[in-house]
Amino acid sequence: MSITVTPAAGTDLRGYVDALAPRQGVWIDGRGAAAQGDGTFAVTDPATGTVIAEIADGQVADALAAVDAAARALPGWAATAARERSEALRRAFALMIASTEQLAALISWENGKSLADARSEVVYAAEFFRWFAEEAVRTEGEYGPSPAGGTRTVVTHKPVGVAALITPWNFPAAMATRKIAPALAAGCTVVLKPAGETPLTALAIAKILTEAGVPDGVVNVVPTKSSSTVVTAWLEDPRVRKISFTGSTPVGRILLKQAADRVVNSSMELGGNAPFVVGPDADVDAAVAGAMIAKLRNGGQACTAANRFYVHADVVEEFTEKFGAAVAALTVGPAFAEGTEIGPLISAKAVAGVAALVDGAVAAGARVTHRAELPAATDGGYFYAPTVLRDVPADAEILRTEIFGPVAPIATWHDDAELVELVNDTEFGLAAYVYSRDLKWAMQTAEKIEAGMVGVNRGVVSDPATPFGGVKQSGLGREGAREGIREFQETQYLSVDWS
Ligand code: NAD
Repeated sequence: MSITVTPAAGTDLRGYVDALAPRQGVWIDGRGAAAQGDGTFAVTDPATGTVIAEIADGQVADALAAVDAAARALPGWAATAARERSEALRRAFALMIASTEQLAALISWENGKSLADARSEVVYAAEFFRWFAEEAVRTEGEYGPSPAGGTRTVVTHKPVGVAALITPWNFPAAMATRKIAPALAAGCTVVLKPAGETPLTALAIAKILTEAGVPDGVVNVVPTKSSSTVVTAWLEDPRVRKISFTGSTPVGRILLKQAADRVVNSSMELGGNAPFVVGPDADVDAAVAGAMIAKLRNGGQACTAANRFYVHADVVEEFTEKFGAAVAALTVGPAFAEGTEIGPLISAKAVAGVAALVDGAVAAGARVTHRAELPAATDGGYFYAPTVLRDVPADAEILRTEIFGPVAPIATWHDDAELVELVNDTEFGLAAYVYSRDLKWAMQTAEKIEAGMVGVNRGVVSDPATPFGGVKQSGLGREGAREGIREFQETQYLSVDWS
């Protein structure tokens, strides 16, 4: 079943996108393949709600065909010299960078994010290929005498095997490369299920990897609307030895329970509820600049998005005015329209969810202080105006739930003990941000926050060279850095008689 791709309206990037978009629905053994069933599903443009592609709906037979291909390719890829695997990843990095405009257009088209956000995602995504190209050749082990003497111990790291990768829609390129790159660097082969909202980008990346010389079967992609069925088939298949999931905490819990049945090695990158702390002696202009990125990158649809602003009473008026003015001045619109800084949300359901959280906060006593304008004609798109709220009560739902939209609730804090209690009062622990000119206070506060990542006077924590991940119900394991490759390796030791 082939897919039909209709060019996005009003953009000269259409040609690039058309040339890049794969023609088939599933990617198995290095090529686009016909899915086994007749079903299709629609990929829509969130800026208009119109269908941009009808794509083959992968089913269990496709899921198993993908595992067949990955299992066939595994021995050869695992035995390929690390230097060769590294060079293939390095070529994939170069090809992605060379295709930045095309890939950015594709991401903006199916996800809705602004072209600027999409371009920076392509670079971020490609950097995982470069980073893990460098890490692939550094999987050194250990060697030494045993304490009692008489034996030598050799510790090595081996690829875990076929890995199932499940990715969300909010970073369709980066969430895929953040898993594919370390898996391939470690010598694993993969089966990937992208989010149903954004399958085209994942298919384009698979095509790039093939062009970069990654052997057939090493990377396989099965888009589907039947996520649970396909992923269950993978988790039940004894050849699948690893699951790496990025998505919401509720779905992560389901998959962890399923993985428990076969004790499948699991990495989970789940939801967040990041606090953004502004200290009494913060450089308020710097904090505002950081807040714009931490809150509004990707329209607020990021797991690391600042979800709750805790601003010290001494600076809360100044911060609210400056941040609010910057938010109100944002240009909201379709990604391909001139000047757009903030695109639509992913779906009508997402807009309704964000609106309900804001309405609930206002009903509980919060005030809307600033709001950006929506485009004159929203054309059926899923837009929500960036909004700043003040005086949000501590128990408001909006401070406890991942907003996943361009809304900034601001609360005021007075003393350190109160602050630490407020920021840690959540089941999540992914990212946090602290702004202060007093670096010692900022770092001591950061260390008290239960989170896997803290930006200190920085509004971005994502970087392929750093260990990305959360504590508490934000997940298990790390992606990026040296830790990222370890998630796709098993440790084995040899105890060698030396007597
Ligand atoms: P989601 O959990 O709904 O979906 C994630 C993926 O899981 C998608 O591919 C989806 O099709 C699939 N899926 C859904 N239900 C499934 C099931 N029962 N069985 C198997 N697969 C299933 O999340 P989303 O809405 O796509 O993404 C947003 C969420 O992802 C947010 O909570 C966000 O915080 C989180 N996220 C986390 C990180 C991180 O690194 N921690 C990064 C990005 C997004």
